[in-house]
Amino acid sequence: MNLNEIDIHKELKKYFGFNQFKGLQEQVIKSIITQNNTFVIMPTGGGKSLCYQLPALIQEGTAIVVSPLIALMKNQVDAIRSLSSENGIAHVLNSSLTKTEINQVKKDITSGITKLLYVAPESLTKEEYVEFLQNVKISFVAIDEAHCISEWGHDFRPEYRNLKAIIKLIGDVPVIGLTATATPKVQEDILKNLDMSDATTFKASFNRPNLFYEVRTKTKNIESDIIRFIKQHKGKSGIIYCLSRKKVEEIAGVLQVNGISAVPYHAGLDAKTRAKHQDMFLMEDVDVVVATIAFGMGIDKPDVRFVIHHDIPKSLESYYQETGRGGRDGGEGHCLAYYSYKDVEKLEKFMSGKPVAEQEIGFALLQEVVAYAETSMSRRKFLLHYFGEEFDSETGDGADMDDNVRNPKTKVEAQDQVKL
Ligand code: ADP
Ligand code: MG
Repeated sequence: MNLNEIDIHKELKKYFGFNQFKGLQEQVIKSIITQNNTFVIMPTGGGKSLCYQLPALIQEGTAIVVSPLIALMKNQVDAIRSLSSENGIAHVLNSSLTKTEINQVKKDITSGITKLLYVAPESLTKEEYVEFLQNVKISFVAIDEAHCISEWGHDFRPEYRNLKAIIKLIGDVPVIGLTATATPKVQEDILKNLDMSDATTFKASFNRPNLFYEVRTKTKNIESDIIRFIKQHKGKSGIIYCLSRKKVEEIAGVLQVNGISAVPYHAGLDAKTRAKHQDMFLMEDVDVVVATIAFGMGIDKPDVRFVIHHDIPKSLESYYQETGRGGRDGGEGHCLAYYSYKDVEKLEKFMSGKPVAEQEIGFALLQEVVAYAETSMSRRKFLLHYFGEEFDSETGDGADMDDNVRNPKTKVEAQDQVKL
């Protein structure tokens, strides 16, 4: 498509009602409509969906969007349909469809109505679908949550590994990879596995200047410490992450007994209870959710004022994602992690039952968490460096927003040596 022929600002307004592009969206969209393989790395909430939705809507043919979660696909399809009078403008292709529904999808694609076709990676491998897609006009293939391709990411999906081979079968179309995982290792894996070293890469900054990072040593007084912290943030919304369901229940109970409105959330609760507790948090009927990592995917509460890690996370990537749920509105977001080496050993023991290759990756990721917890340098600089980003800890945005910078540590080891 010739860029000169279209006014993408006008199209943005027409379809989405927005007056401006956010961050790198405009550059990304131009790259896609000029048929480049494109790689987009933007933090969660950065507006990645629009980067492929808008080009799909204005180009000829159907864009295939690969996404790992059926619920996410459904949401997006509903959102796109609400922008248009044409129901067939977006479809999902998955195993739950009836024969009649599949035929309707195929009809809409063939007639050119369907601009976006969402598919789960395992559906895309079906011979019947591949054959069909080979014979229709495909504008491009977008691979959302592209980190699922890498074992170094936080959500490895083996089916993602087959995507490139299938795309090749479908035809010679541009490929767009999108992710919020910024580690250089994962990025390398994505480019390699999708065979797109030629891709134009767009990477937004991962700095969250309004988040305050703090690590405290975990002692047996952790519960009273957490209670004190929450009482200092009276009436504010917060999330407490724990490693196990048992700990979630225990802490939620302790908080309730101490007059803090808190509910538990973990995969062991039935779906109805989980939905209820999530809604209570979103509607502010309750201040605090105590949760395992099962909580948070797609949670868009703008005013979460603190995120506490009762136990250390298994990687810095997870830590960044989980703390990233704080301060979405740009206001205060205090990220407090409790650290003890015993927890590290516990996590290592968990992993020892896994295949050797997985263990090695797990240990390496965990060592980075240890280094983060033990560092005396700017935590923001440390985190951003992990994501391959240079941060100036003197002048950068949010430079003083961590415990190490506010209260520089005295070198404990050095003092001990002097004493000897
Ligand atoms: P990501 O996939 O990067 O996490 P989303 O695509 O879900 O982010 O978008 C996050 C939010 O940003 C959505 O609510 C979306 O409507 C909004 N958004 C995206 N682009 C724009 C824009 N140009 N102007 C205003 N809001 C936008
Ligand atoms: Mg997204």
